[in-house]
Amino acid sequence: MILRINDVVDDRLCYEKVRELRWSEGVKCPHRGSHKHNRHGHHNTTEHRYRYQCKDCSRCFDDLTNTIFQGHHQPLKVWIICLYLMRLNLSNAQISKELGVSENDTHVMTSLLREGVCEKSPQEIVEGEVEFDELYLIAGHFIYS
Ligand SMILES: [Zn+2]
Repeated sequence: MILRINDVVDDRLCYEKVRELRWSEGVKCPHRGSHKHNRHGHHNTTEHRYRYQCKDCSRCFDDLTNTIFQGHHQPLKVWIICLYLMRLNLSNAQISKELGVSENDTHVMTSLLREGVCEKSPQEIVEGEVEFDELYLIAGHFIYS
């Protein structure tokens, strides 16, 4: 019998920890930064992943919106365990074996985790008149400076 760490770690507790770390001062809309929201059920496939609707911009978001965990198929607990194993200086091959995850997926996860688990910066929105210093146009490529 093989005991995998994934089988004894609770995904619900991982979501509670992410909420605690991410929103220590209360749930905040990742789009406009408002603290006014309503609970809006949970993610379609993950009951511990809470959804919210912002009262200011009406947009929905959840516990993982704008984090590196968003849009990946591995359960949150696999990411958390991966992070823990990285702290123990295990190689990607060892982490892959411990998690029962392919080496390709492990490589993607460890690379993203090394970049940080902080919120991604929102995309800059430019409005009105925009000015920039120079524009070089070379054989179809734009180079801005
Ligand atoms: Zn909002």
